[in-house]
Amino acid sequence: MDTGAATFPAPPAPLPLQSGASNEPEPPDTVSGTAAPAGSLPEPDVQASIALMAALADPNYLGFVHSLAYLPEEDCERIKAAYAFAAVAHAPQKRQSGEAYITHPLSVASTVVEWRMDTDAIIAALLHDVLEDTPVSKLEINERFGKTVADLVDGLSKLDKMEFNSAQEAQAENFRKMLIAMARDLRVILIKLADRQHNLNTMSAMRPDKRKRIARETLDVYAPIASRLGLNKLLRDMQTLCLHLLHPHRAAVLEKALKRARGNQRQVFTTIQDAIVAKLAQAKIGADVFGREKTLYSIYCKMRDKHLSFSQVLDIYGFRVVVGSEPECYLVLGVLHSLYKPVPGKFKDHIAVPKANGYQSLHTTLVGPYGLPIEVQIRTQAMHHVAQEGVAAHWLYKEAAQSSAALQQSTRHWLQSLLDMQHGDSHEFYENVKTDLFPEEVYVFSPKGKIYSLPHGATLVDFAYAVHTDIGNCCIAARVNHESAPLRTELNNGDLVEIVTAPHSNPNPAWLGFVKTGRARSKIRHYLKTMQNEEASSLGERLLTQELFILGIAPADVPALSWERLLNSLGSHSIREVYVDIAHGKRLAPVIARSLATGRQQVNVPVPDSGGALIIRGTEGMAVTLAHCCRPIPGDPIVGVLGKGHGLMVHRHDCEYLREQRHKQKWVDVEWDPAPDKLFEVSINIEVKNTPGVLARVAATISQCNSNIESVGTVGDPDRLYTTLQFCLRISDRSHLAQLMRRLRNLTEVLRINRTQHHGKEARA
Ligand code: MN
Repeated sequence: MDTGAATFPAPPAPLPLQSGASNEPEPPDTVSGTAAPAGSLPEPDVQASIALMAALADPNYLGFVHSLAYLPEEDCERIKAAYAFAAVAHAPQKRQSGEAYITHPLSVASTVVEWRMDTDAIIAALLHDVLEDTPVSKLEINERFGKTVADLVDGLSKLDKMEFNSAQEAQAENFRKMLIAMARDLRVILIKLADRQHNLNTMSAMRPDKRKRIARETLDVYAPIASRLGLNKLLRDMQTLCLHLLHPHRAAVLEKALKRARGNQRQVFTTIQDAIVAKLAQAKIGADVFGREKTLYSIYCKMRDKHLSFSQVLDIYGFRVVVGSEPECYLVLGVLHSLYKPVPGKFKDHIAVPKANGYQSLHTTLVGPYGLPIEVQIRTQAMHHVAQEGVAAHWLYKEAAQSSAALQQSTRHWLQSLLDMQHGDSHEFYENVKTDLFPEEVYVFSPKGKIYSLPHGATLVDFAYAVHTDIGNCCIAARVNHESAPLRTELNNGDLVEIVTAPHSNPNPAWLGFVKTGRARSKIRHYLKTMQNEEASSLGERLLTQELFILGIAPADVPALSWERLLNSLGSHSIREVYVDIAHGKRLAPVIARSLATGRQQVNVPVPDSGGALIIRGTEGMAVTLAHCCRPIPGDPIVGVLGKGHGLMVHRHDCEYLREQRHKQKWVDVEWDPAPDKLFEVSINIEVKNTPGVLARVAATISQCNSNIESVGTVGDPDRLYTTLQFCLRISDRSHLAQLMRRLRNLTEVLRINRTQHHGKEARA
């Protein structure tokens, strides 16, 4: 129960300042000389000193210091210094109950000491709220108490910021995993659990709705973690507290009924216990026999889930038998089964097959006197300890504090040793525990708060494909925690990820270089392959049609028989395959056209408007590439070049690169579609006078002309009189470009504009 507001004995001056308090020497007369008028707050330094005095005099603190006896002297000193530091840092704060704030970290640290955790963990427990609630920085903690403590406190602060809002079971499961993944260090989770337990204990001063939310969150998220880690004592404690917070009335009624029932049962209880003890003594087995009482929460759940009445749930007598060795467990089992008849199908050997959290015991149910069911657990002392404290149990056997990595290591060893004790499906058991304690996944939020789990190292593109294939195929940009990030960015635990899509965009082959998940990889591959074939097929068909027209043949007039003969002679499976081969330059369209025309009467077919040229729309994707060396745009005279294996490359007529390559290529007559519906890239250089704001004025003019700037760079010394701005823009055609250049020339700073041609490297034809 609440001890009420902490009492503040008037601190006698001078004040013993410990590490953590102000470095300034205190003027000797501070307290008595400048006593603050009643009702106003004391000066910060004075306030800190008073808080520190009160904190050091707290009987709970004295008990805490006493409990540190298992640690070396210098560790105790570090812990005391941390306590003083936290007391001063939290000096202006009060708990909602009115107590000094430091009572809370002290209680959390006491639990951590009960678990016999290492010194760094105890210090971190004392400091766990200073980053959140006081001006103290991580750097300062690092300097005073070392990196491990700073990391632990930082990890705890991060967990504090996560709030669980969904009632969905699957979400709760993911949220738990995310918490554990974020914690990275098991100690962070354990301290967090201790923190939560104390908060639950001291929530009477809080608003009822807030109390209920925290209780719900505890049952959905934290209690299962405690259970997974085998912290059964803590688990039972949390569950009972939450039941009281969520259903105060039901809990009170149950509690009263339970007390009454236990009084009535005492007689039967003792009878059974005596019978068991006598029988074990007769068999010469040394054992402790305890009665086991059900918790309020487990009774409540059984009644709710199995629709049982209170007496049905309660009329089960629970006992625990603790012995010295594992073989004795089985001996006890035999003895009990000869005392009372076992209920068939109720025996469970959790020694041979421990539970996922390492729990071991034999469970059996017996038919007792008057036909009453008796549930018995049989275990060794060591098993009992693990059953109570779970993962925390292994700290008990550690001598000195270790590094974080070594601790993780020793936890692994501990799990391994659990494995060695048992003979069942060890692999599955270890995998279960491992994924829970050391997840290899990252957990991120969608904008709607849904949690996605992805493998470590997954990128934004992986996330997009995890949400939906269409989102992946059309993603063009992303924001992580509300800031834009490149698509190749790796995800971190707890990131909030938004994907920006554009309806007609396609997956980029470059993504294959960084995606992590098989799903994203196969979806991208599939898309590219389908697209490539479709585009290539349609390009090949157009190339062939063009050649057929030159021969005076309408494609529709080619008889099926001609095609069949052709396919046979080529060894191709389909017309489509022939088209694709033409597009890739593996077969020549004029040759195919001629063999289709062989033996046919030429008729007079009107040649299409384009005069036989292939129409380029610029939207053919991978089958047609606009050469990067000269960046042709609609209106430019163009020529197509068919390269082996990479479809059709379109250059400007006067492309210098093309002139050099002329003899090596097969040229194709091409023309622009009269009304292309996309924007094309063009590079221009603008020579400008180097005046302040010139770039902004040029850029503004460009965007006024409805052109998009893809990239901008500058050449030349920014201190010189003139500089050259290099723009890569998107425009619709040549007349659009001409209009844009006119507008730019009107700017007084602009001296010269020209469209550029790159050479060499960028050309791919
Ligand atoms: Mn706290």
